[in-house]
Amino acid sequence: MSEAKKLYIKTYGCQMNVYDSERMAEALGPNGYVTVDSPDEADMILLNTCHIREKAAEKVYSELGRLRGLKTRRPDLKIGVAGCVAQAEGAEIMLRQPMVDLVVGPQSYHRLPELEAKAGGGQKALDTDFPEEDKFAELAARPKAKRGPTAFLTVQEGCDKFCAFCVVPYTRGAEVSRPVDRVLTEARDLVSRGVREITLLGQNVNAYHGEGPDGRDWGLARLVYALAEIDGLARIRFTTSHPNDMDNALIAALGDCDKLMPYLHLPVQAGSDRILKRMNRSHTRDSYFRVVERIREARPDIALSGDFIVGFPEETDADFAETMDLVRRVNYAACFSFKYSSRPGTPAAERGGQVDPEVASARLIELQALLNAQQLAFMKAMVGREVGVLFEKPGRHPGQMVGKSDYLHAVHVTAEGLAPGTLARVRIIDAGANSLAGVLV
Ligand code: SAM
Ligand code: SF4
Repeated sequence: MSEAKKLYIKTYGCQMNVYDSERMAEALGPNGYVTVDSPDEADMILLNTCHIREKAAEKVYSELGRLRGLKTRRPDLKIGVAGCVAQAEGAEIMLRQPMVDLVVGPQSYHRLPELEAKAGGGQKALDTDFPEEDKFAELAARPKAKRGPTAFLTVQEGCDKFCAFCVVPYTRGAEVSRPVDRVLTEARDLVSRGVREITLLGQNVNAYHGEGPDGRDWGLARLVYALAEIDGLARIRFTTSHPNDMDNALIAALGDCDKLMPYLHLPVQAGSDRILKRMNRSHTRDSYFRVVERIREARPDIALSGDFIVGFPEETDADFAETMDLVRRVNYAACFSFKYSSRPGTPAAERGGQVDPEVASARLIELQALLNAQQLAFMKAMVGREVGVLFEKPGRHPGQMVGKSDYLHAVHVTAEGLAPGTLARVRIIDAGANSLAGVLV
């Protein structure tokens, strides 16, 4: 047997890219590749990239610059760029970095085996199509090897919402939901390999409307209940949700379905209606408050998280004050906040009214101080409480194990003989800035 070729994938950006990287590695298995943890020993390096903000895209070019030395020393090394930068820049990447052998977009990576063969034959390989066929149906069956207790599962991709700042509708394409049967088959397969928690992924996962076995469209709530029937699957999460797609059935499921975890990522982006309108967000500040209220009625202990953009074109101090006010009123358990980054091709990039970068930075600092304080308060409030923890891996100290609480906090516990995949009740005894400590109940 010929020796296996070695593949190193570096993943940037969102959880969907983490999932895609797994599937890319699996797709290249039949071409003789096994994955390795270091670029130095690889025969092929794939960068699975993110284009959401300018810095994310520039990181890819810096990494390619760093890889140039490796490629000069080992000309046989193949270098590929996948993901959203590949989609947005296409052949331009090969012009800017001629050592790149392969470029593949997020909707065509099921064709990686042919592309790799072409690159292996010394030709440049490029595919940034939005093909008719469903890539997930075209990808080879997933391997049967054992795996860790948590997994991502993409159920919906792309976006038709066209927020004025966002590249996703252009890089990931139109919104598409995977059929229910395929999702259930993949979930059962993951569970048979040791997975106990599945996070369903979608750019707007709660807009899910996959074809059900009855030929009708199923919403996310119905899919969640069907997944909850799988023996051995202990926890279900989903992300990212759009405020406008939180329907009654899904809100009720948050209260009723035991396996659905009490954590919801529900980005609002800004607190001022004027800015929300300019962002083309299609929800208002009030409609967001109302949806949060309904969710908290259904599931009072829910941990809410969100995304915020500060410094969107024309954002005034008064608009920003409304964002701060919204954050105070909602009180988040965790949050992600970003300075607006102008993305070529998006409607907002064409507009005037760009906010002074220093003003935007000052607003971001102020917002993050508030969000961090809320996050810390939420974590401190966990002390003395009992929570479920799914243990994933050993911690840094002897005898220590780390897992995730129902509310997605990292929890450290010192206890002998706890195997990864164990789900146990834990009493929280201490809260740090980023993790909790607990003891088994
Ligand atoms: N679909 C999700 C939603 O609507 O909430 C989020 C998708 S996006 C991958 C993740 C986050 O990146 C967004 O929620 C937004 O806060 C941020 N983002 C997107 N475009 C951005 C831009 N041009 N500048 C700064 N942040 C941006
Ligand atoms: Fe981007 Fe808006 Fe779609 Fe989210 S809903 S992916 S922010 S366009």
